[in-house]
Amino acid sequence: MTPRIPFNRACFVGTEQQYIAEAVSNGHISGDGRFTARCEEWFGQRLGSPTLLTTSCTHALEMAALLAEVGPGDEVILPSFTFVSTANAFVLRGATPRFADVTPDTLNLDPDSVEPLLSDRTRAIVPVHYGGVACDLGRLAQQAEGVGAMVIEDNAHGALAKLGDRPLGTIGSLGTLSFHETKNITCGEGGALVINDPSLVERAEILRQKGTNRKQFLRGEVDKYTWVDLGSSYVMSDILAAVLWAQLEGADEIHRQRRLVWEHYHAELAGWAVANDVQLPTIPPGVEQGYHLFYLLLPDSQSRDRLIDHLGERGILAVFHYQPLHLSEMGRRYGGATGDCPVTESVSSRLVRLPFFHDLSNDELGDVVATVRSFTP
Ligand SMILES: *Cc1c(COP(=O)(O)O)cnc(C)c1O
Repeated sequence: MTPRIPFNRACFVGTEQQYIAEAVSNGHISGDGRFTARCEEWFGQRLGSPTLLTTSCTHALEMAALLAEVGPGDEVILPSFTFVSTANAFVLRGATPRFADVTPDTLNLDPDSVEPLLSDRTRAIVPVHYGGVACDLGRLAQQAEGVGAMVIEDNAHGALAKLGDRPLGTIGSLGTLSFHETKNITCGEGGALVINDPSLVERAEILRQKGTNRKQFLRGEVDKYTWVDLGSSYVMSDILAAVLWAQLEGADEIHRQRRLVWEHYHAELAGWAVANDVQLPTIPPGVEQGYHLFYLLLPDSQSRDRLIDHLGERGILAVFHYQPLHLSEMGRRYGGATGDCPVTESVSSRLVRLPFFHDLSNDELGDVVATVRSFTP
């Protein structure tokens, strides 16, 4: 049965089809066309760092792993509480993932849990800004510097979010963004690599273009293009870039609407949460969050499952989130065991995400809030 209120509804601003048609009539539907250039310029201005569109955030992470030159014997520290791509990108290069725990307030990588994993084998620390709420990057950056490792921000959730006045994705050496349909700004499948270390720009362009210096050739910097390095096909089609451009023109409005949804949930559920020992998201001071999701942390896994059923029976689709990577089939092959990341293990069994998309109407919001409030954990 299709739920009355879905968990996600893909966001369309209305100009997507027009721009797709324009990309087609431009006669350039492969990568690095006019729409790609516009999108990359938009990010370059917003973020203040060169940004390359990629086929996905997963692929941007793979490029980051290549740029960090990680390989067998190297270790990469990342939260267990994340999507598989954060780990896989590095595992594909032969590196060993070391799973750290998250803090119970923001569910972001906990520097105290990172500390004992640091060694001269650590080549990168990969924080995830969960829900688009900034990690404690100051301390993580210090830890990375102490062992000569790189910070790579998996910023799939926080495209327009900030820490102080610094956009997320621009603080580590590299940052990645996702434009998957489930993310705030989308072109169906897509991503971007934000390159904050200027010494990595040229190599990033080459890796993205199948290991060729095609980009330099197109700029007239070299007179022929050839195979110069490792690489793969990480370039986004200009048809998808056209969809993304429509979304970027509407990005501030999407962000505003999502903020209203988030604030509505937070205000309307605060009293119920306190009365029922339910934890709502924590936004630390100085953090301008990304409004990517709204979650509830129930007292235990049974009440979480009962709440999902309670909402489901009333036509509302609410869902859990990441299962701990260190306890997955792959994670266990890297030595993961129960008890390694106690906060992750606990929150992943108690977390539920409420329907969250930019055009969730006031009626729908009221309906979800009333249905949650009618539940006793
Ligand atoms: C969605 C997501 C990804 C993967 O993004 P794709 O664009 O689908 O490859 C990676 N990391 C996190 C934290 C995500 O939420």
